[in-house]
Amino acid sequence: MKNIVIVGAGLGGLTAGAMLSKMGHKVTLLEQHNIVGGSATTFKRRGGFTVEVGLHEMDDPFDETKQEIFDFLDVYEHVEFVQAKELFKVKTSKGTFVMPEGIDAAKKALKAYFDDAKGIDAYFTLISDIAHDYVCLQSITWWQKLLFPFAFRSLFKNRNKSLKEVLDTLMDNEELKLVLSTNIKYYHDSTKDFSILYHALAQYSYYNGGGWYIKGGSQKLSNHLASVITDHGGEIITKAYVNKIEHTAKKVTGISYKKKGEIYRLKADVVVSNASPMQTYEMADVDYENNKTLGISLYTLYLGFSKNIKTVYGAGAYSTFDFSKLDSLDAYENSLSQPIEKRTKVFVDYSQVDSGLTDEEKSLGVICGGDDIKDWQGLDDEAYKTKKEAVTKALIADLEKDYPGISELIEYAELATAKTVKRYLQTPAGTAYGFAPTASQFFRPPESTSDKLDNLFFVGAWVIGGGFTPAIMSGAMVARLFKP
Ligand SMILES: Cc1cc2nc3c(=O)[nH]c(=O)nc-3n(C[C@H](O)[C@H](O)[C@H](O)COP(=O)(O)OP(=O)(O)OC[C@H]3O[C@@H](n4cnc5c(N)ncnc54)[C@H](O)[C@@H]3O)c2cc1C
Repeated sequence: MKNIVIVGAGLGGLTAGAMLSKMGHKVTLLEQHNIVGGSATTFKRRGGFTVEVGLHEMDDPFDETKQEIFDFLDVYEHVEFVQAKELFKVKTSKGTFVMPEGIDAAKKALKAYFDDAKGIDAYFTLISDIAHDYVCLQSITWWQKLLFPFAFRSLFKNRNKSLKEVLDTLMDNEELKLVLSTNIKYYHDSTKDFSILYHALAQYSYYNGGGWYIKGGSQKLSNHLASVITDHGGEIITKAYVNKIEHTAKKVTGISYKKKGEIYRLKADVVVSNASPMQTYEMADVDYENNKTLGISLYTLYLGFSKNIKTVYGAGAYSTFDFSKLDSLDAYENSLSQPIEKRTKVFVDYSQVDSGLTDEEKSLGVICGGDDIKDWQGLDDEAYKTKKEAVTKALIADLEKDYPGISELIEYAELATAKTVKRYLQTPAGTAYGFAPTASQFFRPPESTSDKLDNLFFVGAWVIGGGFTPAIMSGAMVARLFKP
């Protein structure tokens, strides 16, 4: 049994902590916020609103990878997953397309809308091949390592390619390319450097298994993982900011943390960090060179409606992406430098699933888009507030175009920016996704084991990539190293 200290209670830290506790190790998890979950949290607002911080959609919670982890942690007995009936709706300058769940259904709908059956087939063959190769990679044999370029042809061939580069070779129709890139903002901004491998793995999983929400909010999953830790003798200390990792020349020995102005020290055989490698090595006072670019942040406008908007506007899409001013990938790329409110965005209407976030008469929605902390820097409190109000007003005015009269139903509105994300997650520049999943950065061996200090490990968005699934997988990856 090892004495394991975990820094940060995001999904990576919680998954690692829950698995390690269940394996019989002594886990102490320290979280600087007053609740566990990181991005996977909810908060309450007056009017009976449980506001979802981060989860819009997660990919199939019953896929093979997650099933093994969730079975081990009894997740399915305690957390209810609800499925959106379609993957997304997207409005381009040319029309509106609804992407159904299921690869065959998606292909059929795309072929009915776009006159490019060859391009559509080639795209789905490619993402399926990449996903298949990736699954096989998890149990790679020595001879496959030797023959990697042949054994994993699609991964090898596309390892340095971007989404745009690949779409440009597969098809000509720009609207089709836009539709296939619709939810890029859930991972990255530019299609020109977004890794086709990351795109393919995430999209294949969404097409194949659908888009899911956690009934009652993502906090339910975080709280369950936390309860596995405490039920197995572990301890979770919140409002505890880890400021130092102690070590000898080569080996971690413990940490110190700050709580209510007091400094406490804990000894550890192993330290698992859910913070970025940059912050972790700074805490350890160890030099760390890294020229990787950071993933994007997101702004989120949380909206509480006085009515259940499904009963007002009827059944519709759960996620609606607004690309309505765009007719090509180049136009999308140009839109990235526009002011926040003019960039592409998504409206997530939680009334379209049994979200459990409000009582039945009311509902919750969010408008979300890419954000950059630079957009908010250098503003004093008053200017920050004024800019937030202006962005909120513009976003609601846009929503009115699709939902006439919706402003009248808004009982609560609150805008979180990249600055807010930074404050609550402590991530550099408020990134929600770790390192950017660019073609040159993604698909490198996951850096879950420190090469500078023995018994220091990393979990979370920094290891495989951002998103619920990669963060959960990273936690399991580290926990398995300590399987008795
Ligand atoms: C607005 C938003 C929407 C999103 N939407 C989706 C979505 O729909 N689907 C999806 O799959 N993903 C989504 N994501 C991304 C996904 O939520 C994250 O990539 C993932 O949850 C990150 O998990 P993590 O393990 O890296 O931990 P994080 O969520 O980054 O949490 C890290 C934790 O560590 C704590 N911590 C850091 N440093 C210290 C320290 N020194 N001492 C103590 N504690 C510390 C932080 O307080 C935090 O609680 C979204 C993210 C955001 C912000």
